[in-house]
Amino acid sequence: MNLEAILDHIEEAETIIIHRHVNPDPDALGSQGGLAASIQAAYPQKKVFLAGEGVGNLDWLSTMDQVPDAAYANALVITVDTADTPRVSDQRFNTGKFLIKIDHHPNDDDYGDLSWVVPEASSTSELIYDLIQHAAGRLGFNATVARLLYAGIVGDTGRFLFNNTSAHTLRVAAALIQEDFDPTALNNRMNQITLAQAKLQSYVFEHLEVTASGAASVVIPLAVVENLGLTSDQVHAAVGTPGRLEGVVAWAIFVEQPEAPYRVNLRSKGPIINELAKGHHGGGHPLASGAKAQNTTEIAEIRAQLDALVTQFVTA
Ligand code: AMP
Repeated sequence: MNLEAILDHIEEAETIIIHRHVNPDPDALGSQGGLAASIQAAYPQKKVFLAGEGVGNLDWLSTMDQVPDAAYANALVITVDTADTPRVSDQRFNTGKFLIKIDHHPNDDDYGDLSWVVPEASSTSELIYDLIQHAAGRLGFNATVARLLYAGIVGDTGRFLFNNTSAHTLRVAAALIQEDFDPTALNNRMNQITLAQAKLQSYVFEHLEVTASGAASVVIPLAVVENLGLTSDQVHAAVGTPGRLEGVVAWAIFVEQPEAPYRVNLRSKGPIINELAKGHHGGGHPLASGAKAQNTTEIAEIRAQLDALVTQFVTA
């Protein structure tokens, strides 16, 4: 564990710039904002920046700072929740004085001058809480920090549904909700969808193909997304939808993109799917991965591979 070294670097730096991944989810924003607020609470004189491009519909949770190029010259840069360098939002992350990676994805790309990666953790937000605990006063803690970290944990555990929810996760969540924020209001906000998103969910159920073994998949054409006027993060909210269906063991959602052909979201209740994702320009967690498909041939290939994994799993 590099926790002491991380705390030393935070203590020494006058400027700290925190990056997260592109297309941020609540864990990316929660761990980024939570760490920033925690540092700022302990060291009000330090300059702490949140770096990254658009936060989409999550601007109610966190907003980014304008970071001047010059700020990087002497800065400590920390990336959170970002497994590999191409996925870091704002590629200036590499132009600071020292780079630390804090993450909970499998450590396939061990970048940075120092890294702390715990794939068993539910979320990077859980790790930031652990870091604050370990810091024993060298980092701050308050309701702002707690709310952001709680949002991250709720997001990445699917509100404590997924199997990454450990006893420790629940203990951390219990500590967080003791702070002065409204977890129910936060959960309601995170659970909220627009009517257009609800229509997309019904499209998903209507067009879902489920194999005999329980491998489900659906293609969402660009025209459907455009007709409903949905942004990519609004589409992303439908990723968990097929998992609610009885008999579905693992699933793939193929979302046609304006620029690259299809974005693939893979989810599973048992079979390990991240190796499949790696075979299609993707990666991620054992039960939650993302990939890309160039065309309908590759979609068919992924469907067949997913079905094989599920078949193997259910017959084992
Ligand atoms: P998503 O389906 O986009 O929500 O992604 C699920 C998980 O897979 C996340 O933890 C991502 O970090 C990871 N992931 C998604 N897309 C990719 C990719 N192209 N390459 C590597 N990892 C990815």
